[in-house]
Amino acid sequence: MATTAEHLHCVIIGSGPAGYTAAVYAARANMNPVLFTGKDPGGQLMITNDVENYPGYPSGIMGPEMMEDFRKQAERFGTQIRYELINKVDFSGPVHKLWTESDQEIHADAVIISTGATAKWLGLDSEKKFWSKGVSACAVCDGFFFRGQEVAVVGGGDTAAEEATYLAKLCPKVHLIVRRDQLRASKIMQERVLNAENIVIHWNSETLEVLGENEVEGVKLLNNKTNETSVIPVKGFFVAIGHQPNTDIFKGWLDMDETGYLKTVPGRTLTNIEGVFASGDAQDNIYRQAVTAAGTGCMAALDAERYLAAKGVI
Ligand SMILES: Cc1cc2nc3c(=O)[nH]c(=O)nc-3n(C[C@H](O)[C@H](O)[C@H](O)COP(=O)(O)OP(=O)(O)OC[C@H]3O[C@@H](n4cnc5c(N)ncnc54)[C@H](O)[C@@H]3O)c2cc1C
Repeated sequence: MATTAEHLHCVIIGSGPAGYTAAVYAARANMNPVLFTGKDPGGQLMITNDVENYPGYPSGIMGPEMMEDFRKQAERFGTQIRYELINKVDFSGPVHKLWTESDQEIHADAVIISTGATAKWLGLDSEKKFWSKGVSACAVCDGFFFRGQEVAVVGGGDTAAEEATYLAKLCPKVHLIVRRDQLRASKIMQERVLNAENIVIHWNSETLEVLGENEVEGVKLLNNKTNETSVIPVKGFFVAIGHQPNTDIFKGWLDMDETGYLKTVPGRTLTNIEGVFASGDAQDNIYRQAVTAAGTGCMAALDAERYLAAKGVI
């Protein structure tokens, strides 16, 4: 166990598109960034196949390959990457304290948070089996692969309503699977769903299984009022029951909304604590895309650079 604290200028927490982009900018600005990867080096895109909407890859790219490129670019400019988790912080003083999982104490002048978010899943084995091969948590990312085909969306909140209306523009029929007899989504989103001719709502319905051999061929539903089961023939299954931002360790220090998304000054990456900046999905419950995460990672590094320069640290 380490006894003395290590002092660093710039700590980046997270190794998804936001963290690595922040690292590229911070390293090129001589901020000597140290990036902690957490338990999922590369972030969410490590579990997806094709990424077709990230600019600069005209033929698309596999998620893990793209994140390898991000890592190499961050390292090329001198970012130090540590394959560790930050599991505690203390933002009470002018120098920010952090502890790694091996209990190393770190003191940082600036901290960039890029800890991302985790999609919630139903927890079915069949959902796992077809993960990224017909089962998705992102219509904007994967909807295009299912254009012209029948798909299902599970969920009753705003996310599900948004995913269903997005897919309804690409697919001839969208089945919306709703556990209760009403939607939780906002009124305007409800209206969009109810007015879409090609969205069929399955009320009081729960997913029992995603069906198929090598690809998704359908979904087995249970009506929780009548106990009847039915099968809907779909090629894509979109789980839209929400995301959980990975921000637990910042509770009590940083302002966040009721779900845990970090609050920043509008249009900036500044949090309520001076010298602590937030980027990527950890502070974004709207766009949740690799390119927007990278964009806010860049902003966080630039905000941190100005902060450190004003303090005379760099
Ligand atoms: C299956 C799937 C497919 C997708 N496809 C696309 C797509 O095609 N196009 C697109 O634009 N977007 C896609 N997305 C969304 C995209 O992956 C996210 O918007 C993006 O990864 C968010 O980047 P991020 O850097 O904010 O966080 P993440 O990618 O979520 O990375 C978070 C990082 O923080 C680390 N971390 C968390 N807690 C800690 C801690 N305490 N200490 C240290 N590190 C920590 C994790 O280990 C991880 O490295 C997809 C998402 C999923 C799940």
